Amino acid sequence: MARYAMLIDLAACVGCAACAAACVLENEVPPGHGRLWIRQRELGAFPDVTVEYRPEQCLHCERPPCVPVCPTGASHQTEDGLVLVRAERCIACAACIAACPYDARFMNPAGYVDKCTFCEHRLARGEDPACVETCPTGCRVFGDLDDPESPLHAWLAEAERVDVLRPEMGTAPKLLYLNTPSKRGLANHESEVES
Ligand code: SF4
Ligand code: SF4
Repeated sequence: MARYAMLIDLAACVGCAACAAACVLENEVPPGHGRLWIRQRELGAFPDVTVEYRPEQCLHCERPPCVPVCPTGASHQTEDGLVLVRAERCIACAACIAACPYDARFMNPAGYVDKCTFCEHRLARGEDPACVETCPTGCRVFGDLDDPESPLHAWLAEAERVDVLRPEMGTAPKLLYLNTPSKRGLANHESEVES
């Protein structure tokens, strides 16, 4: 059993969206939808301006509100902490879309709810998720929070800051952001501009 998590070092993210493109190719994400997207927000005022580039996707919450609302069990959490959808059981009621505070889910035109899987199929082959492998700045790392050998722990130990989106929701995200450009943490979730 593992407790899979992903870290993104925002000090190193340049917002190139290579991760988003890799995800589309890897997971055959239908046109007009995204399992992963980048938000961009300017912080501060001239001449002291910083830009936050923030990749967003399913956070594979430890306490995922998208799971208990599902009437069929399609939306579920694995023993390894992945939050997944069994397409064949999904009746497209969209209850999980409404329950996710992060807009991480979308309706696949094929008739089921779709979202980031942390590239479960690649993990099964011992590979990193496509977004992690593709990132040209190496700002993403994937691993097992319960494994002391996982590189996650060195990244966490060296980070100046560790933030999660909307901690007040109590979802215990397992997508963590390191080293936000602003010393005050992540840019406001509600008012940012999508790139
Ligand atoms: S980010 Fe949304 S879809 Fe992903 S586990 Fe959390 S609540 Fe569920
Ligand atoms: S849309 Fe599908 S996965 Fe989501 S709650 Fe309804 S049946 Fe479950």
